[in-house]
Amino acid sequence: MIPVEEALDRILSRVAPLGSEQAEIARALGRVLAEDVRADEDVPPWANSSMDGYAVRGADTAAAAPGAPVRLQVAGRVPAGAPAARPLEPGEAYRIFTGAPMPPGADAVVPQEDVRGDGSAVLLERAVAPGAYVRPRGEDLQAGQLVLERGRVVGAADVGVLATLGRARASVIRRPRVAILSTGDEIADLGERPGPGQIRNSNTYALMAQVGEAGAEAVNLGVARDALSDIEARLGWGLGCDLVLSSAGVSVGEHDFVKAALERLGAEQHLWLVDMRPGKPIAFATVPRPDRGALPIVALPGNPVSAMVTFELFVRPALRKMAGHAVLHRRRVTATALAPIPNPGRRRGYLRVTLSATGDGLGARLTGDQGSGILRSMVAADGLAVVPGDTTVAAGAPVTVMVLREP
Ligand code: AMP
Ligand code: MG
Repeated sequence: MIPVEEALDRILSRVAPLGSEQAEIARALGRVLAEDVRADEDVPPWANSSMDGYAVRGADTAAAAPGAPVRLQVAGRVPAGAPAARPLEPGEAYRIFTGAPMPPGADAVVPQEDVRGDGSAVLLERAVAPGAYVRPRGEDLQAGQLVLERGRVVGAADVGVLATLGRARASVIRRPRVAILSTGDEIADLGERPGPGQIRNSNTYALMAQVGEAGAEAVNLGVARDALSDIEARLGWGLGCDLVLSSAGVSVGEHDFVKAALERLGAEQHLWLVDMRPGKPIAFATVPRPDRGALPIVALPGNPVSAMVTFELFVRPALRKMAGHAVLHRRRVTATALAPIPNPGRRRGYLRVTLSATGDGLGARLTGDQGSGILRSMVAADGLAVVPGDTTVAAGAPVTVMVLREP
């Protein structure tokens, strides 16, 4: 049996970041930027008012004092979106609104609550310094400035900045396309009535959701019978994708044909049987393709929790690497066991736990029965506690938890 770290290494060393594509900026969210973005203009492009009030020349107001107002003639109005008709002359004020361009000649804004006036003239009883309530040209971004660096994960504010710069699209790393195949004579798909001895297909849909959560795109290859030819044919449908996932049929039973099907496809096998619980039977192979790089195929175990946990450990980091991310792994925290967390058996345990806030940190507690078919306890899980084989973490002792969702 291969240790988890070694298995992960064998997978990650055989996948590489994909190429880039142009994406509409709102769809670039969460993806990795494949270009440096520079400002090609100043933002804002001209000085503008940050208040509703009057645009003035600061020097004209220097003598203003309580009881000794300065009187300025109103030259006109500057609403947002409409520049002033003519420059401001000495002794004048322009009625101005937030976001409107400063009229030439004006260098300060007096908020409307600080003036008295009758419409044709205003009275100020306080001097304003040049620059007051003016947002200067380029205060946000300057032409030529590097604004977003290649390799960063596009966030909502990044999308805003791209729009500010007039960019409808941005170059981002392609989202991996992941084909998903379920296998097993006993598996009835959604929309089918399960026959005698059949159960419903849950792996395809849980894995599609995990693929989506990892920022990749899922392609459903359906359910293959436990027959070499069916599995081989359907795996072949995934040859145009960036990665193929199968579940079940990868153990040593007489009806386990996934490994044989991989061989028939000419795959080079790099991995089988990993030292973990749940999990263990997981194969990783690459199929050479004439037109492009080898196709990675991960054959996951069939039990629903095993499939999901092995996806988290091995597939998610691989997909993130392909999508260009620098951070591949889930956050790990040290929590305090709120009750004993036993891991009987020699294999390293990835045990489903809830996380809750304690006085000074996080507490971890098993979600319940840890059977590899018990999806309900995966539903409840905030994370996976990593526990060495033949070990019980005592109540009150620290335990490492891979965080699956923020509690
Ligand atoms: P196997 O690896 O083929 O021995 O399957 C292990 C267990 O996983 C069996 O109990 C299967 O019925 C179950 N299983 C396999 N595929 C699926 C699936 N797509 N959805 C739900 N359970 C499955
Ligand atoms: Mg089977």
